[in-house]
Amino acid sequence: MKKWFICPYCKKKLVKYEKDAISKSVFLLCKKCGKEIEIKINKE
Ligand SMILES: [Zn+2]
Repeated sequence: MKKWFICPYCKKKLVKYEKDAISKSVFLLCKKCGKEIEIKINKE
């Protein structure tokens, strides 16, 4: 089941990921609040 990575500032849904996804040092610009968000998922 895919989950949403939510913007920590404005709660907008940014990207979908599977539960076994691993991500760090990946940045997205939130289109709603304009902030740069680091996508940190299951970082070991
Ligand atoms: Zn945002």
